[in-house]
Amino acid sequence: MPKPLDKRERNREYDQRRGSARERGYNARWQKARATYLQRNPLCVMCQKEGRVTPATVIDHRIPHKGDQQLFWDTGNWQALCKPHHDRDKQREERGRFQTVGEDGWPI
Ligand SMILES: [Zn+2]
Repeated sequence: MPKPLDKRERNREYDQRRGSARERGYNARWQKARATYLQRNPLCVMCQKEGRVTPATVIDHRIPHKGDQQLFWDTGNWQALCKPHHDRDKQREERGRFQTVGEDGWPI
């Protein structure tokens, strides 16, 4: 009889499986959605407001999704930004909300 894993061990295994599965699905779907969105919205909307024309390279969530799937995938909540604008926005949010968001936009 194999020795049953203790509870902590099982939880860790479960977290790892769930994490990687979510990541895989998220990455493939996000990369495709992101590429399509940037093709249709090739310019940074904030630069446009300032009268400049800059290619957008990042998709920003107008309302921080904080891991909320519906907000995350709602293209109505997306805006195309250049990297400097996105980083500036992100920093402001981090200062205001004490939330850290990774490169891919998910809370760390
Ligand atoms: Zn910009």
